[in-house]
Amino acid sequence: MEDLSPLLSVRNLKAYFHLDEGVVKAVDGVTFDVHAGQVLGIVGESGCGKSVTMKAVLRILESPGRIDGGEILWNRQGSKQNGSTVEETVNLTQLNPHGREMRAIRGGEIALIPQEPMSAFSPVHTIGDQLIEAIRLHRPAGKREARQIAIDLLRDVGIPMPEQRLSAYSWQLSGGLRQRAIIAMALSCNPRLLIADEPTTAVDVTTQAQVLRLLRELQAQRNAAIIFITHDLGVIAQMADYVVVMYLGLVMEQGPVDDIFHAPKHPYTQALLRSIPSINSTPREELPTISGSIPHPFNKPRGCPFHPRCQQAIQGRCDQRTPALQAVGGQQLVSCFLYHDVERSS
Ligand code: SF4
Repeated sequence: MEDLSPLLSVRNLKAYFHLDEGVVKAVDGVTFDVHAGQVLGIVGESGCGKSVTMKAVLRILESPGRIDGGEILWNRQGSKQNGSTVEETVNLTQLNPHGREMRAIRGGEIALIPQEPMSAFSPVHTIGDQLIEAIRLHRPAGKREARQIAIDLLRDVGIPMPEQRLSAYSWQLSGGLRQRAIIAMALSCNPRLLIADEPTTAVDVTTQAQVLRLLRELQAQRNAAIIFITHDLGVIAQMADYVVVMYLGLVMEQGPVDDIFHAPKHPYTQALLRSIPSINSTPREELPTISGSIPHPFNKPRGCPFHPRCQQAIQGRCDQRTPALQAVGGQQLVSCFLYHDVERSS
């Protein structure tokens, strides 16, 4: 990482859903940074708030969801002045989600690789038409130039016969090719940050490995940052440089991937890691599971959100107070009273 100032800085982000039955605090004070060229993995079970965090960053949270606090600071690279590139920091929470500036950032500077491949393309327009339109929306390219960029992009993501594929419809492609076309679409505007939301859930294991390898190669070639959202720690181990572990809308632990995998501090991270098969596991060996289940979002426990399932919970402390996210040496940060006594301020 050459650049020390983050590309994206999410500070104490809160995204709540205001329902008739009450308020669901889907994301309740999440903090992390993403640097240029870094792959950040956000991991957690379903309902932990990882996808809501991503939607908040892109400002595509649907009602009754809304951002209720915090900052999303995006480092915009502006035009060149006197030969040097001007940078400015924009707080995305302050922008109109449908306004011109946010639309230019979303798609132009931050792009999404969605979870559901069929939703990424319109079935009634060809891949080529959609790619060319996306390119021309964010780049000053004529039709012929945009067509050539589209062909190059399809080639870059490993789609054979890219010229012919321009006239294909998304439903004519295999799952693997469609996934590659989606990545081409996300790259069409040369984004500085790619957000990949469980991008390999809909494909088989072989295609998954190919897609992950492709994303890693593209990221290295383009020095783009990636936020990789997944529930799969195996994918995190392959992809991420830095990991954020979420549970019930809060960050439990974050740190460099090696620290998280070799020296996990938080009892939740430790339990998650125990529950994945290792190369030493024997076939049909029963893996440990995390006791209990994730509480209903309306009934979040008081204190540390993990305390009802935590085997090391300290009675009278963990069930009463919520730990803050604190540094515990190096770049590792942990929300747990086993390591510090700092309480979270709401
Ligand atoms: Fe367990 Fe307490 Fe740490 Fe929460 S704060 S993870 S309950 S030890």
